[in-house]
Amino acid sequence: MRVDRDKCNKCGLCLKVCPGLGVDFENLNKDIFGKDKNKRYDSNLGYFINCYLGYSKDKKLRFQCSSGGAVTSILIYLLKYKIIDGALVTTMDSREPLIAKSFIAYNEKDVIKAKGSKYTPVALNECLAEIIKSKNKKFAVVGLPCHIHGIRKFQQINPILKRKIIVCLGLMCGQGVNISGTRFILKQLKVKASEVKNIQYRGEGWPGYIKAIKKNGQIKITPYLEAFKTFTLGFFTPERCFLCTDLTNELADISFGDSWIPKLMKNNNGVNFIITRTQVGQELINKVKKDICYRPASPNLVIESKKIRLFFKKDSHQLLAIIARVLGFGTSGNNIKSRITPLSVFVIFTYLNSVLSNKYPDFFLKIPLFIWKLPLLTYRKSLNIYKKMIIKP
Ligand SMILES: Cc1cc2nc3c(=O)[nH]c(=O)nc-3n(C[C@H](O)[C@H](O)[C@H](O)COP(=O)(O)OP(=O)(O)OC[C@H]3O[C@@H](n4cnc5c(N)ncnc54)[C@H](O)[C@@H]3O)c2cc1C
Repeated sequence: MRVDRDKCNKCGLCLKVCPGLGVDFENLNKDIFGKDKNKRYDSNLGYFINCYLGYSKDKKLRFQCSSGGAVTSILIYLLKYKIIDGALVTTMDSREPLIAKSFIAYNEKDVIKAKGSKYTPVALNECLAEIIKSKNKKFAVVGLPCHIHGIRKFQQINPILKRKIIVCLGLMCGQGVNISGTRFILKQLKVKASEVKNIQYRGEGWPGYIKAIKKNGQIKITPYLEAFKTFTLGFFTPERCFLCTDLTNELADISFGDSWIPKLMKNNNGVNFIITRTQVGQELINKVKKDICYRPASPNLVIESKKIRLFFKKDSHQLLAIIARVLGFGTSGNNIKSRITPLSVFVIFTYLNSVLSNKYPDFFLKIPLFIWKLPLLTYRKSLNIYKKMIIKP
């Protein structure tokens, strides 16, 4: 963690709420789900009420958003019916196009402007002061698991934040990508960073495309899955992501993800996995029937479709925590027992890729693209073998 010593007033708040320093799930679960009577528990999914498959009824949104446009549609609904005054969302900074910038959207136009997943670091906390200082306003927050962990920790010690953030919409997250990841994508697209006006990581159908719009109007595009293979091997992934045990955003009111189900992957219409966790979240989903089409899904379907990532996040946690400690990184403070299988070799390999590419980003960015093809060529085949291994351990 880097501290801006000119701004720091040594209050210690950052250390108290930082998710990177540890997340006490037991304590937070009690706080968030303690009173809900309808809750169910699964060690992979956390506490939840129901699971659904769904998507926005607005065809344009469904096509332009990441998975099915459910998050954007719900935010529009919340603003339209004045359930919230503003939504904490994230867009790419128009002045620094490779940097993501969170802001509070107070109208539909700005919510739509912020649609789509940003695979780059996001400092959501920068907008919390605006929420705390606002007068008699209510907010929704959209964030990754680490963001929601930090907000829930902050809400525990700040009743104003607890009162003002009335709903947390959580994105599922297998792994983050650092800023060098965006530079690597630009390298693949043969676009210089200085030429970029705007970058979109998802959209144009499902799973969608990464699009770099140049200042001269030229557009360069590559399938999202093609560009993402390198990151799935751990390259340009922040090391801390390997110590995170939360794939499905277990502390959110509602979680949203991609539905990687072979049957649904045949066409390019996105479908969200939606998990309601709290009464607030369930009531909201019940209300948005006019805007979102959804049907129940079994929790097992969610788990099956996310087996590989769950193996990283849950089954490999203890093993990764030991390696992190040996390498001098902290741990997440969680204690989930590891399941050692041949896939663990792959997990360690990707973790080491992450550590090395974070330490020497310039070296990795200089490697010619044809050399990257070597590990990527074997990627698909090995992934299929690994899939079989964990489905039949
Ligand atoms: C880094 C990252 C990793 C992910 N990994 C997985 C995964 O492994 N498995 C899976 O099923 N789903 C994953 N997702 C979630 C998935 O990509 C979609 O975001 C989610 O399904 C919601 O889709 P949607 O169409 O409803 O969202 P949209 O309607 O497109 O809205 C997305 C909302 O999220 C906000 N947002 C976008 N990026 C960020 C960010 N980085 N931080 C905070 N807020 C943001 C936007 O401002 C917008 O409000 C990931 C998302 C991200 C950003």
